[in-house]
Amino acid sequence: MKSAEHVRQSLLDATLELLRQGLNANASGNVSVRTDAGFCITPSGIGPDRMQPADMVDMALDGTVLTAGKPSSEWRFHRDLYAARPDIGAVVHAHSPYATSMACLRQDIPPFHYMIAMAGGNTIRCAEYHLFGTQQLSDAVVHAMQDRKACLLSNHGMIACGGTLQAALALAVEVESLCAQYWRALQVGTPVLLTEAEMADVHRQFVGYGDPATRT
Ligand SMILES: [Zn+2]
Repeated sequence: MKSAEHVRQSLLDATLELLRQGLNANASGNVSVRTDAGFCITPSGIGPDRMQPADMVDMALDGTVLTAGKPSSEWRFHRDLYAARPDIGAVVHAHSPYATSMACLRQDIPPFHYMIAMAGGNTIRCAEYHLFGTQQLSDAVVHAMQDRKACLLSNHGMIACGGTLQAALALAVEVESLCAQYWRALQVGTPVLLTEAEMADVHRQFVGYGDPATRT
């Protein structure tokens, strides 16, 4: 298990990377990593320009705050994803422009491109709307994430998960890119969707190739 210091620095690095890639602005979005004690998450209300490794907050899986500071107001879905999914080692949440725009349509992203498989299935589901920070939203997220590594959040943003923080970040970038591509395709026509059989071939190919969402 990585040292607490390393985990805290990696969360700061990921926050700055999301900003650099245009996936988050100001204090929106949050990132966490699973730890021995539960998970470590970015703080509430501190912008990335002022955030320090010492601001990261350790929490237990029962929601207890273990160290100083106030965790992100959206800690519940991080906690519930770690509790429900042993395969998840890191969670990235972003209000990225294209994914958030598509999430405002409250529709799943269909298999218009084979890379949709990177999110674990044949669609990227859109979790139903609930107020941010609530248990209802967290329940909707866990439901939308069944057999998936990413989902959209209605009128809110997106979540990407991975075995490692690096994998979760890579998937977040891919989901944003896919949403931008889908948005553009919708401007000029009706995208032709891949069939279940074609997507099954993609999933098989990913297994042989080494799933890009879990490669580190
Ligand atoms: Zn949010």
